[in-house]
This record gives sequence, C-alpha cells and structure tokens, in this order.
Amino acid sequence: MAKRQISEERKVLYYIGMGVTAIGVILFLSVFVRALNPSSMLDDMVSGNPMASFMGPPLIGFIMIAVGNVLRTIAARGAYGSGLMLDPEKAREDLAPWSSMAGGVIKDALEEVNIAGSKEAIKEVIKIRCPHCTALNDENSKYCGQCGQKMI
Ligand SMILES: [Zn+2]
Repeated sequence: MAKRQISEERKVLYYIGMGVTAIGVILFLSVFVRALNPSSMLDDMVSGNPMASFMGPPLIGFIMIAVGNVLRTIAARGAYGSGLMLDPEKAREDLAPWSSMAGGVIKDALEEVNIAGSKEAIKEVIKIRCPHCTALNDENSKYCGQCGQKMI
C-alpha cells in the first residue's frame, strides 16, 4: 500500500525543484528588467563589464530552470521511473502512483499478460503417458512421440 504513495522525501524534492525553477525564471527575466533600466546597463559599461547584465544572472537562471525541472521529474517519477537509473521492476514501483491514477493501465496490462500466459499453461498440462515407454504425450496423440508406438 505504501508503495502506491509518493514518499515525503519525493514531495519535498518536488517543492525544492519548483523553488529552484522559480528563482531561475526570476533571474532569467531579470535581463529584461535591466534592459528597461538604462542606468543599470550604463553602470555595467562604466565598470568595464558591458556583458555582465546579459550573461550573468540570465545564464545562472537558465541553468537553475533546467536543474529545477530535473529535480521535479525525479521527484514525481522517482529515480527509476524517470530513467535516471535503469531497472524496469523498480520503475514500475516508482510509477505505481501514476499508473494507478490513470486507471492502472500499465500495471493492469502487465497483469493481464500474466493471466493469459498462465491460462495457456493450464491448457497444456493435460498430457497422457505412453503405455510402452511412459513418455508424456499430448492428450489427443495416437502415436507416442518418444517410441513411435500406438498410445493404446
Ligand atoms: Zn512411448
């Protein structure tokens, strides 16, 4: 039951990711704010660093947006579910809250395959022994597949 819930750590990680993204967006947009304020750009030129207002905060902001998105993806889908670590079984566990929300499509489909497979196995269990060599043969076979003699 616990596996179907998103853990507290992952929720916290999700909010951290959201915070990092938000700060990144503010930093990224700061270049436009500064562009609307000529005196601040003049300050940069006077200080001998005319590109500072374009390359500094926006670049850091862009990186923070990217990092924040990665953190949120990992938090939402788990380390395995997001493909950070490869393990199909654990990915299924990580994605359990999501697949159960969507009507359990992935999980149910996998379980249906298993049920279909086990039905097939039950059908093939019916075998009869050859009276001559005791080899197992299909129920309706007339001759033994092992020794070739009649099954009666
Ligand atoms: Zn036989």
